[in-house]
Parts: sequence; C-alpha cells; structure tokens
Amino acid sequence: MSGAVTTARTGYATGWGAVDDSSRDSSRRLRPGHRARRDNTSRLVAGLLLWLGLLLVTYWWVADGGISDLGGWATALMSVGRIAGLWSAQLLLVQVLLMARLPWLENAYGRDRLVRIHRVVGFTSFSLMVTHVVVIIGGYAAGQWSAVLSTTWDLVTTYGGMLLAAAGTVCLVMVVVTSLRAARRRLRYESWHLLHLYAYLGVGLALPHQLWTGQEFLQSRTATIYWWALWAVTAVAVLVWRVALPLIRSTRHQLRVTSVVPESSDVVSVYLTGRRLDALPLEAGQFLNVRFLSGAGWTRSNPYSLSAAPDGHSIRLTARLVGDGSRRMAAVPPGTKVTFEGPYGRLGERARHSRRVLMIGAGVGITPLRALAEGLDYAPGDAALIQRYRDEPLFTDELGVLATERGLQVAFLPGRRTNATSVLGPLATGPEDEVLRAWVPDLAERDVFVCGPTPWTARVVKLCRAAGVPGDRIHTESFGW
Ligand SMILES: Cc1cc2nc3c(=O)[nH]c(=O)nc-3n(C[C@H](O)[C@H](O)[C@H](O)COP(=O)(O)OP(=O)(O)OC[C@H]3O[C@@H](n4cnc5c(N)ncnc54)[C@H](O)[C@@H]3O)c2cc1C
Repeated sequence: MSGAVTTARTGYATGWGAVDDSSRDSSRRLRPGHRARRDNTSRLVAGLLLWLGLLLVTYWWVADGGISDLGGWATALMSVGRIAGLWSAQLLLVQVLLMARLPWLENAYGRDRLVRIHRVVGFTSFSLMVTHVVVIIGGYAAGQWSAVLSTTWDLVTTYGGMLLAAAGTVCLVMVVVTSLRAARRRLRYESWHLLHLYAYLGVGLALPHQLWTGQEFLQSRTATIYWWALWAVTAVAVLVWRVALPLIRSTRHQLRVTSVVPESSDVVSVYLTGRRLDALPLEAGQFLNVRFLSGAGWTRSNPYSLSAAPDGHSIRLTARLVGDGSRRMAAVPPGTKVTFEGPYGRLGERARHSRRVLMIGAGVGITPLRALAEGLDYAPGDAALIQRYRDEPLFTDELGVLATERGLQVAFLPGRRTNATSVLGPLATGPEDEVLRAWVPDLAERDVFVCGPTPWTARVVKLCRAAGVPGDRIHTESFGW
C-alpha cells in the first residue's frame, strides 16, 4: 500500500508492501478445488432444471391445443392465461425452493446471490400470476367490461379450489407489495419477515385450484406426476432444511454462552461453546441465525457471522449494538442456551480461485473477514485486508498478530464517506479504482471478499470491476435484507 496511507495522520497500515514481490508469480491461480467445480456444475444443473421445467410445461400447453386456441380472441385469452398460470406456478415453487436452505443451492450460490435470484424469480412469478388472473377473467367474460365482476364472482364461487386460490392471491399480493423497496424501508425486519411467511400460505392455497381445475395438470399422467412431484419436493425441502435440520443441530450441539466481551463502545463479542462442535460443518466466513433463549425477545433469531475461525470447541460472534436483538445479546448471562440455523454462506475458501486475496470490510462487516484472515490458507503477503471504519477500528490487536505471524497485510481507512459514491473514504484522493490499483497492484489477479452494508458492498463490487477484477472473483456478504 502506498506511503500516503501508511503515514496519514488517521489511517495506518501493517505489513503493507513489506513482502518482497520480485520472486513471486502474481498470476498464480489455485486450481479450482473439487468443491468449486461441484458448485459450478450445481449452478449449471440448477439453471438447466429451471429451463427444462418451463419447457416441459410449455410443451404440455402446446400439446393441449395452447397454440391452436390462439385463433379466436376469447380462446386466445384463456390460452395465454393458462400458460401464464403454469409458468407462474412453476416459478412460485422455484422461489420457495430457493429459500428452503437446500445445502446444494446455498453452497452453489451463497446467500446474497440466492436472495437476488429469489427476488427476480418472485417478481416474475407474481407478474405472470397477475396476467393469469386478469387474462383468464377477460376470456371468461368474453371481453365485456360489464361482465367482469359477475364472471369473477362466478369463477370464484363455482370452480373447485378457486375461493382458496383467491385467498392465496391476496396473501401473495401482500407479500409482494411489502417487498417493494419503498415499503421495506418503512417496515421493521421482523414485521416484514412475518408478512413474508404468508407467502407459504399463499402457495399452499393456490394448490387445490390447480389440482381440481387445472387442465394441463390433469391432461396427462406424466404431467400430473410432474406437478405432484414438484409440490412434494418443495414441501419436503422446506420441512427438512428449514425446520428439521436446525432442530436436530440445535439439539445435538447444545450451544450455550460462555462469555460476552466488549470490543468497542458499541460492539461486543459473544463466545459460545457446545457439544461436538468439530462435527458441525462450519467454516470461516459463514454465518449462523442465532436465537438466545433468555428473557423477552427469545423467539427472535438474528444472523451473525463468525468473527473467529472455528476451532471445533468454540464459536465467536461479534455484534454491533443497533437494536433490541443485539442489545439483548450484549446482556445475555453465561450459560444461556442458544438455538441456531446454519451454517450458511459461501464467503471464503469454497469460492476462492486465487492464492492471493484481498478482503475489504466496512464497520462491523469486518467480522467474517477477521475470521477469514485467520482461517484461510495463505503465504506471507498473499492476503491483504482493508478495514473501513468511522469511529473505532475493530480487532486491531488480533489483526496485528496475524500480520506478524502470518504476513497478513492490513490497512485501516478511517473517516466518513466523502460523497455518495465513495468507498475508500477521505484517504483515497483521486479516482478510487486507480487508487485501489495503486495500493494493490495485482488486484486483478486476486479474489476479493467484501462485507458491509448493502449499498457500500454494491459500490465496492463496482469499484473492483472498474479496477479490473473479474466478476467471478468478487465474493460478497451484505449485512442487509
Ligand atoms: C448474513 C448476515 C450476517 C450478519 N453478520 C453480522 C455480524 O457478524 N455482526 C453484526 O453486528 N451484524 C451482523 N449482521 C446484521 C445483524 O443481523 C443485524 O444488525 C441484527 O439482526 C439487528 O438486529 P437488532 O434487533 O439488534 O436490531 P433491529 O433494530 O431489529 O434492526 C436494525 C437493523 O438491522 C437489520 N436487521 C434486523 N434483523 C435482521 C435480520 N434478521 N436479518 C438481516 N438484517 C436484519 C435491519 O436492517 C434493521 O434496520 C448480519 C446480517 C446478515 C444478513
């Protein structure tokens, strides 16, 4: 890192540039491990399965006269409504599967990416569902505006499962409306999450009308088996991975608090221990959804990243005190039982391509990077960590030890953001991509791990792309929802 940072009054760096680069081949890449190859294959298979499913239902629609029905406009409306409904149903189930915590998908995509895909699939499925409802009603009403209300009433009250489907639609509308950014900003996470759970009810209520009246559902034995299988797989996935596995793991590992230690004026570390933690597939960079079983608010679970590499005996989580949940966490007495879901996330070794890594974190987003700095395998000088902070940097002593013992290069960048697009803070004078490249000349050959608030994380990704880092080498975890 340049002297400008090391000597600046407020920022400082440890070990930056101390390693002699001359004998090192900066383009050395790790041969992708078997897990990275498996994840690539999983993403390919998941994408293929999605398109294959859509193709299959389209084929059944065509085989059932979907295209020939396009001849007359009333039958065309019904036909378009049917295919929109089928695609919507398929994507609705895909959307539930994406959030079912299937290890296969969690490992292949990581949580951040799964959430993004879930949103896109969700809004697409919803738009198709609205199209399905509007167009089908239009078809039955034979295009007469005056007949729309009576036709809707007729459809809902006379066709099997339609009343339930209407209730399901209301649930899904509520979920989608509260998921729009403008609405989410006004809601507390817990309220939004509670409302979001109505999506399961909505999906469940939509099933009977598809079973009882869905032409393409009943048209062939294969189609019926396909739809039943898809519904069953989705339901089982949710029950196994969202409900049973967390219960089994929490019961098996019996996590409890050993101590709570302040890290700064508004950040604490909570140390946990438990049974057979060596058997928990936990890695540096991952996070757990934890629930502390003491006092009021014990039912709430919050996601926290490991802030130290797991050693098979204990777990450390570090929390900034921002609200009720984190403040409760700071006050939990030793011995408090903890239930958990996870581990989740693929920020870390699993996603890595290169021997050299750069970690960039802001605020308490430094926690998973602190664990990675300890848990990743690297030679002196191959790992660098930049910590952006406003008031006090975190883990300064521990990072100092890692710098001395393992040759980690550490830079602390203080200060408020200079403008809305600033990533690195006031110490970066000039275009930030050039500054970053000057600080980390082999940036384009490194894997970059990023963690912090969602908007800041998005800006770091942009900055790294502008500085020449390929998209598949940038790995993020944002502390937002
Ligand atoms: C994958 C992930 C890992 C995280 N790791 C850490 C960590 O290591 N250290 C740390 O200090 N913070 C971490 N967070 C953020 C932390 O989960 C929230 O700060 C915490 O849940 C706030 O709860 P609260 O009751 O104290 O505050 P609240 O007043 O309830 O919320 C404060 C803010 O935190 C966010 N938040 C609340 N609940 C959640 C939730 N369940 N999921 C996501 N965001 C939420 C909301 O944006 C809200 O505006 C992480 C978040 C995610 C998504």
